[in-house]
Amino acid sequence: MNYSALSTAELNDLYLELQSKFDAYKSRKLSLDMSRGKPCTEQLELSVGMLDVISSSDSLKTRDGSDSRNYGGLDGIAEAKELFAKVLKVSVNEIIIGGNSSLAMMHDTLSRAMIHGLYSSKTPWSKLPAVKFLCPSPGYDRHFAICELFGIEMITVDMLPDGPDMNQVEKLVREDAAIKGIWCVPKYSNPDGITYSDEVVDRLASMETSAEDFTIFWDDAYTVHHLTDNPDRLKPMLAACKEAGNPDRVLMFSSTSKISFSGSGIAVMAGSESNLNYIRKQLAVQTIGPDKINQLRHTRFFKDTDHIKAHMEKHAAIIKPKFDTVLSILETALSGGGIAEWNKPNGGYFISLNTLDGCARAVVSMASEAGVTLTKAGATFPYGKDPRDRNIRIAPTFPTLSELTTAIEILCLCVQLISIRKLLA
Ligand code: PLP
Repeated sequence: MNYSALSTAELNDLYLELQSKFDAYKSRKLSLDMSRGKPCTEQLELSVGMLDVISSSDSLKTRDGSDSRNYGGLDGIAEAKELFAKVLKVSVNEIIIGGNSSLAMMHDTLSRAMIHGLYSSKTPWSKLPAVKFLCPSPGYDRHFAICELFGIEMITVDMLPDGPDMNQVEKLVREDAAIKGIWCVPKYSNPDGITYSDEVVDRLASMETSAEDFTIFWDDAYTVHHLTDNPDRLKPMLAACKEAGNPDRVLMFSSTSKISFSGSGIAVMAGSESNLNYIRKQLAVQTIGPDKINQLRHTRFFKDTDHIKAHMEKHAAIIKPKFDTVLSILETALSGGGIAEWNKPNGGYFISLNTLDGCARAVVSMASEAGVTLTKAGATFPYGKDPRDRNIRIAPTFPTLSELTTAIEILCLCVQLISIRKLLA
């Protein structure tokens, strides 16, 4: 039933009916937090065996004979570099294994760019009159927060079904030398679940940029996080940049935060050898080496990419029913109404819901009245401002199935009620 085809009287009747359902939920004084994409306990249990692969009676030597308990190994142990180089489709010299957070690596990289510049920079970015970043949106709020922290001006670029709108991107980077980078979550993007097409990868790799040190921040956080047997495929970005004659254009990031333990995983960054050698020199001043015992734990537990794949299938078995539940409730409540659209991702951690323009903030606020906390409306856009006020990020992984069902039923009621208010206004 398309809402715009209903008469005022019909809309009023429907509003009253939905309002009484909403009031019934409200009286239950629920408290359901759907605000962040965290793994649930059952997912964390999948990796608990990792705590047993190293004990005091095991050798704590790495493959090359060094002692993981001691200082050294600035860019990671050889077996971790080998494993994650395969995951990111780069060579072992093109990867650095860091600490527990890829976000920290991104933050530190931008921080160093501000203070010293990147490998291809002529001037530290903070010495320039303006530094701008392209932010395909909706996107990851914490990327935008880093830019805000460093005073980097954010320019919103539309997301299309196969990645950022490349016509916009190409024009902007060609014309404005102050644009130094772009944030990309190229596979199962946060929050749209979009995987960039080969054409988008190639255009990003080869486009003409006015800034000589324009850098793609390629956050491949969900690279092995498939939900189906027919996963999306992403063209390897470093290889595409090399082919296009721009080998230093990309810095890639990823982590095991949603493979092993969020907060106690291992993070990685990758890029050309020139880029990474420049970064290694700076890292050597910051630290004498990362937590190699955790790297050893991860490589002994995961062994190889086949084991990671099998492990991720276990994650999918836990979270796919949650994604399916959200999609089926959205379908039942909202399909055909002309009041909302949503994506059906093949992987990642989110479902992105678009309401009618001007409704998202009111929907999120109404849901909170019934005890459902959603990601703040606007958070998926630079400066927290969704120009159309329509995007809502749904994070299905953490709640139980029954909590999720209740939360999404309430969310749908709010979408319906706020939409009717808009249509009647
Ligand atoms: N990048 C993206 C796109 C994310 O969605 C997240 C977490 O939600 C992160 C990075 C955080 O990664 P880490 O835990 O490695 O800092």
